[in-house]
Amino acid sequence: MRKVAVVGGGAAGIAAALTAAKRGFQVILLEGRSRLGGRLGSFFDKRAGCQFDLGVHLIIAGYANTLKLLERIDSTDTVEIQRSLFIPFYHPIKGRAEFRTICLPPPWNFLTGILNFRLLSVRERINLIRRLTKLTSTKKLTPQTAEQWLNEVSENEYERFWKPLIVSALNCYPEDVDIRMLKAALIEGFMKRGGLGFFLQPEAEIFHYRALKALKREGVSVRLNHPIKGLKIRENRIRSLAGNSGIEVQADEYIFALPPDALCNIFGDEISAIGLKLDLSALQYSNIVNVHLIFERRIFGDDFGCMLDTLPQWFFHRRRSDESEKGEAYSLVISAAERAIPPGCDVLEVCLADLERCGADLRGNRLLYHKIVNNKRATVKISPDIVDKRPGVMTDLANLYLAGDWVDTVFPPTIESAVLSGLQAVELGINHE
Ligand SMILES: Cc1cc2nc3c(=O)[nH]c(=O)nc-3n(C[C@H](O)[C@H](O)[C@H](O)COP(=O)(O)OP(=O)(O)OC[C@H]3O[C@@H](n4cnc5c(N)ncnc54)[C@H](O)[C@@H]3O)c2cc1C
Repeated sequence: MRKVAVVGGGAAGIAAALTAAKRGFQVILLEGRSRLGGRLGSFFDKRAGCQFDLGVHLIIAGYANTLKLLERIDSTDTVEIQRSLFIPFYHPIKGRAEFRTICLPPPWNFLTGILNFRLLSVRERINLIRRLTKLTSTKKLTPQTAEQWLNEVSENEYERFWKPLIVSALNCYPEDVDIRMLKAALIEGFMKRGGLGFFLQPEAEIFHYRALKALKREGVSVRLNHPIKGLKIRENRIRSLAGNSGIEVQADEYIFALPPDALCNIFGDEISAIGLKLDLSALQYSNIVNVHLIFERRIFGDDFGCMLDTLPQWFFHRRRSDESEKGEAYSLVISAAERAIPPGCDVLEVCLADLERCGADLRGNRLLYHKIVNNKRATVKISPDIVDKRPGVMTDLANLYLAGDWVDTVFPPTIESAVLSGLQAVELGINHE
């Protein structure tokens, strides 16, 4: 039986390990931390007495591979997908408005949402539909930033539709991301039947506990607390991996399901052996800040909302996992935080003021708890100069395959891209030979 070593136990590594085991390989999954899930995880806060996710993750109806993975780790009950896309928007001056699509075949479903989106004038809605149709129907877009492509858009259309969409879906400002990534996110993610998906359980329950159980059931040997520090390459093949205290792992095939910086650390000076067009050390990343809050009572009627013209771009009401929990927990999300948060900004103060400006019920509603979590290097920025250099799963080394959200799938760096790359590393890589 051929042996496969998967390095990295995030969404990409879990997907790769499960698929390789299903294809009859003997699989060992090596994860550096004490838990699986990578960027999908939760922490228990003693002071709050409950679990918070490291960051709120939204999935989209178009994430077919992620939904399949959830099925494989017995977690379909942990996600709720809207039957059709519905997003409440909160604007400090214009108040609440809805983006609500109806159950029509795509793209008509999406277009109905725009036609009824009252934060734009009728003329702006028509222009927006024209622009969206142009974006999604142009076969070959020239490399350029989203901002360049949107240079003729009115300020309203930009600030109330394009910018929130781009920052939320791609974790980048329009000037930092290639327009082709936005097109992919729209077509593959949003313009499908169904809408947003929300996890109903803490992410650790899904991507650590349930994933671990499923991996073990499939016969995968999972080693936690097993960071890979280096490797031996001979005659164009990886011969072994070096773990903690010099423990060696040998396999026939290797799938590295790691972020670019972790890959660089392991390969060191031998990184050129992989044959990448991309200089990994020059990649730029975007941060996501989550502001977790507990109030005495609810602050909005909606369970979530997209906030405009404010520092946080989204709020999410956190479902209780335990009836004894005190208060009502919320998570605010600030994507592309390295740009969104001005230097010296008091994030908590600004967030609370923004909630109030958007109509949150904060009067006499005591803030019982707050915690700010900065997820540094949340995703890689896919700017026009790197889109065409994103590597696929194959490498110049005969027995090395890459996976991870930054690898070239049709998707921008997201859970779906991570899962799909894990599947491809097996199906186009090791299983293809
Ligand atoms: C706060 C936040 C919010 C996000 N929101 C969304 C969202 O709403 N929707 C969406 O689709 N995406 C979102 N993302 C992006 C999404 O989380 C990632 O795209 C996805 O989880 C990446 O999975 P991965 O397996 O490629 O990488 P990772 O999850 O980073 O997994 C890599 C794993 O490798 C391990 N590792 C690293 N070095 C070593 C080593 N030397 N040896 C062994 N193991 C090692 C790490 O510990 C980690 O477990 C968000 C990300 C963050 C941080």
